[in-house]
Amino acid sequence: MASIYDTAGLEALRVRNAVQPHRMKLFRNALFKKARGWDEALETLPENARTDFADTLRFESLELAERHDSEIDGASKLIFKTTDGHLIESVILRPKTGRTSLCISSQIGCACYCSFCATGKMGFTRNLTSDEILDQVTQASRLVKPEGRSIRNVVFMGMGEPLLNLAHLFEALEFLRAAPLFNYAGSRLMVSTVGIPQAMARFTEQHPEVQLALSLHSARQEVREKLMPQARTYTLDRLREELLNASQNGKVMIEYLMLAGVNDGEEDLLALEDYLRDIPVHINIIPFNEYAGCNLRGTPKAEMTGFSNRLKAAGFQTTLRYSLGADIAAACGQLVQHKKGF
Ligand code: SF4
Repeated sequence: MASIYDTAGLEALRVRNAVQPHRMKLFRNALFKKARGWDEALETLPENARTDFADTLRFESLELAERHDSEIDGASKLIFKTTDGHLIESVILRPKTGRTSLCISSQIGCACYCSFCATGKMGFTRNLTSDEILDQVTQASRLVKPEGRSIRNVVFMGMGEPLLNLAHLFEALEFLRAAPLFNYAGSRLMVSTVGIPQAMARFTEQHPEVQLALSLHSARQEVREKLMPQARTYTLDRLREELLNASQNGKVMIEYLMLAGVNDGEEDLLALEDYLRDIPVHINIIPFNEYAGCNLRGTPKAEMTGFSNRLKAAGFQTTLRYSLGADIAAACGQLVQHKKGF
């Protein structure tokens, strides 16, 4: 069976059934731009081609196993099951701005073991294929369509480290960017990394238009090493070189999770200002979603606001984020981790 994300396979099918290119365009538009169901998409094809397309194509790579809707802020967590029986998560975010975003996973589990992350406690199972990455976007797009919404932004901030699944990440980004397919502008796509310098360099070179976010969380080497084991190999000094390189394509997002007594003190603030000085960045200050099994605590809101204001006063473009989906364990890996009994 050919996947709907296999462009060469789709073209072979088109030729075999003598489908005119404009009818094929209608079919692709129905699937990827208009978020129609596959039965509706098939109706855009000539009648004599429909059976062969239906029998040959695999329309879904993931099965939607569960959906959890927040009662407080419009976030929805989707649990997908892979064909080999693993669970992954995607989160639909419906902030008050009305711009619907989708946070997607790139791996099953993760090998980075960040101490604050539920996914990091699961260990690593395997990379997601590009089909599995893209299917999260297709299925979420269909889910929000009846609400009159579309997925405006796609962020790779779910389970896994996307830059450790570079080949499939690049395939997925190419499909998302391609004008005849999803046609996402690079500014609407964001890839978040813990900081893998050589992969950041390849990403910057091959996808300069796609936004990059660095999960920094501390500008003090010893603190960062405790939070993120990868920091022992990829030091802050080495990461700064890649940040400067990446920022030539536009501002890099800096993600800073606020953890009480860990990275929210005066010393941390000064180190952060010093580290990011003269690099074009946008700093996102993020509240921590506390969860059972993790003894880290979030910084109180007033202190977060103070930290954020100090960065602004120092000249940094800074946004204090709100936590969405706290009642549905929307932070990366929390719900799957709970289901697996970790
Ligand atoms: S924060 Fe990201 S990189 Fe770190 S363990 Fe979690 S999924 Fe992996």
